[in-house]
Amino acid sequence: MMRHRDNPDAIEQAAADMTRRLRTAAVHAGESPDPATGASAPNLVMSSTFVTRDLAGFSAHDLDDASGFLYSRWSNPTVAQLEAKLCALEGAEACLCFGSGMAAAAGLIFSLLGRGDHLVMADTNYAGIAELGRDTLPRMGVRVSFVDPSDPGNVASAIRPETKLIWLETPANPIMRLTDLAAVGRIAARHPGVRVAVDSTFASPVATRPLELGAHYVMHSLTKYIGGHGDAMGGAVLGSQEAIGALRLEAAIHYGGVLSPFNAWLIMRGAATLPLRMKAHEENALAVARFLEAHPRVSRVIYPGLPSHPQHELARRQMANFSGMLAFRAEGGAELAERMASELRVVHYAVSLGHHRSLVFWLDTASLQETSFRLRGAQLESYRAFAGEGVFRMSVGLEDPADLCEDLARALG
Ligand SMILES: *Cc1c(COP(=O)(O)O)cnc(C)c1O
Repeated sequence: MMRHRDNPDAIEQAAADMTRRLRTAAVHAGESPDPATGASAPNLVMSSTFVTRDLAGFSAHDLDDASGFLYSRWSNPTVAQLEAKLCALEGAEACLCFGSGMAAAAGLIFSLLGRGDHLVMADTNYAGIAELGRDTLPRMGVRVSFVDPSDPGNVASAIRPETKLIWLETPANPIMRLTDLAAVGRIAARHPGVRVAVDSTFASPVATRPLELGAHYVMHSLTKYIGGHGDAMGGAVLGSQEAIGALRLEAAIHYGGVLSPFNAWLIMRGAATLPLRMKAHEENALAVARFLEAHPRVSRVIYPGLPSHPQHELARRQMANFSGMLAFRAEGGAELAERMASELRVVHYAVSLGHHRSLVFWLDTASLQETSFRLRGAQLESYRAFAGEGVFRMSVGLEDPADLCEDLARALG
């Protein structure tokens, strides 16, 4: 991104050094002591505008890498630091942050697609994005095909001459179904006009780096694992310098859903501990998943780290960390959900995920079909094979796993 320090060569060298090891990158990438004060922690620059000697050029099209900061919708020093850190974590050339994960997804999709274009989208994914694909995009003249991407052949056969984008999410909300990103990458490589975008929110860059597997874009809700503490919303899209430059011109500057510097500062603080937190999330999730799998009232646990996950082999290949997200089916369904909401003491009964606090929420298959997915035939059967009448989606936090299991045992009865 833009030059904003005294010695860009030294900074660039330091940044390159730091990207070698993930834990060091998470702590240091994008940050360096303030040259004016020596402050070790990053500054929070809330300024919306920047004093400039550049007398001409009010259009974003006149900006280049040598330009200083001009206006915070275009770029901001604190947000730029977070963007550099995320680039190091994802192994990406460039990053653009947004005010939420949905702003990131919508910004990318709207900037790439127009009337007459075709989108291939996974048939189960985050509800907001599923509904964008079902309702908003067709209204704007974009055609959308929904496929079960757990078989990459379904993606291949949905591609048409007008296809511009393949949108995937792995593991996918809410049933932890995986997509083989390398296989889809090979399919997309045969169609030069087709871009692949991956919502990698559930995996985090600690588990999976989609750009290395052939994706052109990776998207994150920073509200989840990367921020990690449930107190700041944000989103990001990462990719090549050229692709993200074009996205900045269109989605940041013209749509305007940019990240607040204050949220960038909070999320950067969260991101510093991402590798350590993911390790603990995985450990805790494995403990909770094993406890649930042994519980007589639980009929099914879906966690990529368990050998019982139908795609466990793929998970081992594609995920360096199995993450803290699991789903389970249990006797009682909606009734049990009510009991959880009133009886859980440690786990919060709430939506969202990726926080240090454990969260659990009941996702009823029928109502999800009505509002978000609208699966039919084989696709509905495939979904029900995972979810039955509904699943509890659990984001396993950083508490002592013994307390989490005790809490769940009390509610399960
Ligand atoms: C939460 C989430 C989003 C949306 O992000 P927000 O920050 O809530 O707007 C998108 N995709 C996935 C997988 C998510 O979990």
